Amino acid sequence: MAESYDLVIIGSGIHGAGIAQAAAARGLSVLVLEQSGIASGTSSRSSKLIHGGLRYLESGQFSLVRECLRERALLLELAPQLVKLQPFYIPVYRDTTRRPWLLRAGLSLYALLGGLQPAVRFRRVPSGLWQNLDGLDTAHLQAVFQYSDAQTDDAALTRAVMCSAQQMGAQLKIPATFTGARLGQDGERDSIIEYRHNGQIETCAATVLVNAAGPWVQQVLGRITPAPAQLGIDLVQGTHLVVPGTLTQGIYYVEAEDKRAVFVMPWQGNTLVGTTESAYHGDPAAVRPLPQEQAYLLRTLARYFPHYRSGQPVLATMAGLRVLPASGSGTEGGALSVNARSRETVLHPDQQDHPRLLTVYGGKLTTYRLTAERVMTRLAGVLPVRKVVADTRHLKLG
Ligand SMILES: Cc1cc2nc3c(=O)[nH]c(=O)nc-3n(C[C@H](O)[C@H](O)[C@H](O)COP(=O)(O)OP(=O)(O)OC[C@H]3O[C@@H](n4cnc5c(N)ncnc54)[C@H](O)[C@@H]3O)c2cc1C
Repeated sequence: MAESYDLVIIGSGIHGAGIAQAAAARGLSVLVLEQSGIASGTSSRSSKLIHGGLRYLESGQFSLVRECLRERALLLELAPQLVKLQPFYIPVYRDTTRRPWLLRAGLSLYALLGGLQPAVRFRRVPSGLWQNLDGLDTAHLQAVFQYSDAQTDDAALTRAVMCSAQQMGAQLKIPATFTGARLGQDGERDSIIEYRHNGQIETCAATVLVNAAGPWVQQVLGRITPAPAQLGIDLVQGTHLVVPGTLTQGIYYVEAEDKRAVFVMPWQGNTLVGTTESAYHGDPAAVRPLPQEQAYLLRTLARYFPHYRSGQPVLATMAGLRVLPASGSGTEGGALSVNARSRETVLHPDQQDHPRLLTVYGGKLTTYRLTAERVMTRLAGVLPVRKVVADTRHLKLG
């Protein structure tokens, strides 16, 4: 007899880990299948920010910003070693598109959505202090705004969430590659799931299968029978570079030549610069930083930090893939503007009344806990009710 679980989750990125934690906290039996390693996908290649998403205000995603700010406040409390508040600086030059009045309005709205707490307030940095800003170019500089947001180690946060799930009984198999599933038919309680573990094909049964495979989401759906409906998505590549040099004051939020926001951040004793947005159509496992992305990020860095103009070695590069609603445009490697597209996480059940499969599309590191709670609410009528072990709003991490 195949072992049976309440929930089998494919993927141990931040969403798989978060859903495993929320399910184990409800006393449910959980198995997580991961093909490579915890956080080996997008969850180790993000900008590493637990942020309210100031730039989402421009596309009117107010409820997302409010939610992100609430989750940020909670994570600062639950994981103080992993999630830390940082000063963020936005310089405004003569040719910067977003003018001081617009930034002031945006930052005021941001503070309002965050309940006017000290951690969401902003200020204008007096010009007498500009020379302290890590060598920021002051030629034609008109204003610098400072506000706060949080930085994390995305892979360490994911491991901490998975560890919390395991402490409450969730099982994790690595390397375990999901190879197929047959969803329960006509009154059958369970679906049958197949995976390759240590070179062997193994099977198990689950009341609900959760597809948290990030950019592999459609590949996983393609291995399920009867074939579930798929939502149209685009994979959008984002690259970061690590260059030598430490920033002592915080994180810089600058405008690149195409008007996109780029972050320049302190990272493990060096400086992390990112990100880009390029269309991607290949195998998610084969995503690599592109030469044009590297050149774009180095040009942006040199534009704002003159001491990088003489050229710097690049210590590391990394590329991750966002899952966004399909737009129907974008050539391979072509730069995209995706800011206006929704960053809301989409939970897609195979059937409305009695889901046997739930797929997670998109999402953010910042809101992983809320997404996991929403998955639990969506599956409430299907999963058994067990003795509650904990509440994720109070579970310390790390
Ligand atoms: C460039 C970039 C910057 C970002 N910056 C931020 C940020 O600063 N802040 C923020 O909040 N969000 C950010 N995001 C969004 C955030 O990083 C992602 O939404 C999140 O990490 C996605 O996590 P996930 O668990 O859905 O996917 P992943 O982390 O990709 O995890 C999916 C897992 O599934 C596994 N898997 C796939 N197929 C199988 C299979 N067949 N069998 C077993 N396992 C399988 C993979 O190995 C992988 O480990 C960023 C995203 C990108 C791309």
